[in-house]
Amino acid sequence: MSATSTQHLPDPGLRDRFHRRALEHQRPLSTVTTAYTVVAFLCMVGARNLVGAPAAPLAYRLLCALVLLLLVLAIPAAKSPWLFGAIGVAYMQVLLAGLALNIAGLAQPLLWVLPALVAIPVCAAPLWLTPAHFFIGSALFYAAAFALLPGEAHPHDVDVVMGMWIVAIGVPTSIVFHFAFYRFRRNHFLLENQLAELAATDPLTGLQNRRAFVKQAERRLDAIMPDVQVSAIFLDLDNFKSLNDRCGHAIGDHALHQVAQVLMDETTGNDSVSRFGGEEFAVLLHDGLDRALQLAERLRVAIAAIERPDGSLTASFGVAEHRHGESIMVLLDRADEALLRAKHSGRNRVCAARALPLETLRRVASDAHEEGGEESERGAAQRYRWEDFYLISHFQPLYSLSHQKQVGFEALLRGEKDDGTLVPPAVMFAPKPSNDESALDRASHAVHLGNACRALPGDAWLFLNILPATFIADGYADRLATIVRSAGFETERVILEILESHGGSVDDMSRAAALYREYGFLIAVDDFGAGQSNLDRLLRIRPDLVKLDGELIRATTHGTEQPILPKLVSLLHQAGMLVVVEGVETTDELILAVESNVDFAQGYLLGRPAAEIAPPESVHRQIDEAFDVIAQGRAHQHALFESEVEPYRIALRIAADVLLAGTIVDDAFATLATFERCISCFILDASGRQIGHEVPGPAWSKEGASLHPVANPRDARWDHRPYFRNAVLLPGVTVTSNPYLSLASGRPCIAVTLALQLATGRAVIGVELDWAELGLPWPAGE
Ligand code: GH3
Ligand code: MG
Ligand code: MG
Repeated sequence: MSATSTQHLPDPGLRDRFHRRALEHQRPLSTVTTAYTVVAFLCMVGARNLVGAPAAPLAYRLLCALVLLLLVLAIPAAKSPWLFGAIGVAYMQVLLAGLALNIAGLAQPLLWVLPALVAIPVCAAPLWLTPAHFFIGSALFYAAAFALLPGEAHPHDVDVVMGMWIVAIGVPTSIVFHFAFYRFRRNHFLLENQLAELAATDPLTGLQNRRAFVKQAERRLDAIMPDVQVSAIFLDLDNFKSLNDRCGHAIGDHALHQVAQVLMDETTGNDSVSRFGGEEFAVLLHDGLDRALQLAERLRVAIAAIERPDGSLTASFGVAEHRHGESIMVLLDRADEALLRAKHSGRNRVCAARALPLETLRRVASDAHEEGGEESERGAAQRYRWEDFYLISHFQPLYSLSHQKQVGFEALLRGEKDDGTLVPPAVMFAPKPSNDESALDRASHAVHLGNACRALPGDAWLFLNILPATFIADGYADRLATIVRSAGFETERVILEILESHGGSVDDMSRAAALYREYGFLIAVDDFGAGQSNLDRLLRIRPDLVKLDGELIRATTHGTEQPILPKLVSLLHQAGMLVVVEGVETTDELILAVESNVDFAQGYLLGRPAAEIAPPESVHRQIDEAFDVIAQGRAHQHALFESEVEPYRIALRIAADVLLAGTIVDDAFATLATFERCISCFILDASGRQIGHEVPGPAWSKEGASLHPVANPRDARWDHRPYFRNAVLLPGVTVTSNPYLSLASGRPCIAVTLALQLATGRAVIGVELDWAELGLPWPAGE
């Protein structure tokens, strides 16, 4: 206390703060005393009017009162100490002028003003913030008083009395008043300042404590301009409890002190550094994420160089960049989340907070405008920090087989380390303690859109994978539409591939799909044929496109002899969906895709995923060749088919003639029933029911009929079968069906049929041919 009372204020910053504080203290008192003086002046004016001597015009004196009043009103508005001082000087001068006007024409003027000349400087004490103000204000007052109030000639002893009152009473009293006031205020200020410092400082390390740090950070963030970057570093010493436990608290305290020293040495005066609590520290700096990560890394190395008795001291760091409008606590929370990841992934490391999609996108957009810098050096592949690696986009082309050109690109997420090596997907997508799968999914959309806007040709679709959980999340459709538009894309060019294999409620999915469609997005179902996908889900979600799992095409080419792909594609087309086949790796698979009437194809054969988009020339040729192969194959297949079926057609026509001539069924079919592929010959009536018994051929129940309960054709009606309907449509013409499963033999078969008019009515006669043998042609499509 005694130290403070004699202390001067040499520090200009402190002096300035003191003056401002003094201004706040004195403002109310000054307002009251000056307002009181105006009232006293008005009383004096009133008293003067009671005296008969000629006087200055009343209006002039009242004008002085009005000016005084205005100056009083200016006091509450005065912001700077100098303005406050100037108001004080002006006030005293106007008051003097008013007094001079009031006493003009009086016989004994000094009788009126002498008390005022003594009292006014004493009452003015609250107007002077500093001794300088006081001396200037008082000197000007007395100088003006002697200039304005010469009065009439008066005896010498009146001069002596006046001088005595002023010099012996007025001046000393005002000096005492002023300095007593001044010292009291200054000591109060210093004490207040000291208390505030104590309350804001951590006694062990001398750093700011948590409360002061948060308060200062709040002020800084409030005043920050939108384009200024701010970041926070949060650090926590590793296994600090064990240091205390093994070596005692004194060693622990010393280590905390050393860490504080490192923080002070490595940061600048502009950064706020705080011991946030226990063994946690926080730094707030005016820099972006990259610089903050560099600083955190320097701090990590410097702290790791501090020795502790059982090894070396280490700390884990979380770093986050401030988002516009975010509070300091939210910023620190995000840094803390990153710190938690640093702890979980092994301590003694720096982790960055994850970026939000929009924020990532903003960076993408700003990088796109700026040339140079780490991110732009990589051409089309822009990378964005995510935890301790970067996210990058690879694009794989999709071809329209009919158009033989690239129509779109599927964006695939890749992780890249600082040195450019790829992070294995198993690591990138591995579940982590603080992992939120959806966060990575959302971030990937922004990264891809940012990259796609500069890498993709103007008319190409962008295929974005999306997890069902993200797809149905509240508000995400709107958010994604915003991101798409911010990237300079149209939603109509974005196809969302729902990862069907992840499941999810089909009701939620179909509702969400309708919503995304309203925004203009197209919807695709990914990996159809794998995981939980099924036809019912497909028909309810009603995607615009279906992506068939690559395994489906391989199952078709290797697993069975009969390609089911054409049928599936035909089914999906009928349901109004376009079909993409994925994983096309060989020419055979490409040919099958073309043959199956698939709309789009994707796979290593057509183009691998890459950061940069490859020119498509050679692929055009490949697809073209596949079309040629199919055209030739189709001609060959047709010829083979015809040569296989023709003898049966001839024999069936002969059987028809024989039947029409009145011969019994067994005889009519006697020749046809000896043909090698014949399963059975039959006659159906107009309603498709079998007339009489069928005549079995050599292929009848070859290897045993497998479908016993339905094997007997006599129990059934067959007028719904294409072979019946087609025959009825073309009476007298032999028609041949596509392959189907024979219930009699349990093997694939085809039917040759012919409609004719028997005496008993219209009938269809036919023969079922065993079509299971390898190498037999299968007409594609319907
Ligand atoms: P982790 O790596 O997970 O952070 O482990 P840790 O042991 O550092 O963390 P934990 O939060 O379990 O322990 C923090 C310890 O910090 C507990 C407490 O004894 C010690 N500590 C907190 N404040 C002080 C202090 O002012 N002085 C000393 N010497 N130790 C302190
Ligand atoms: Mg801790
Ligand atoms: Mg700790």
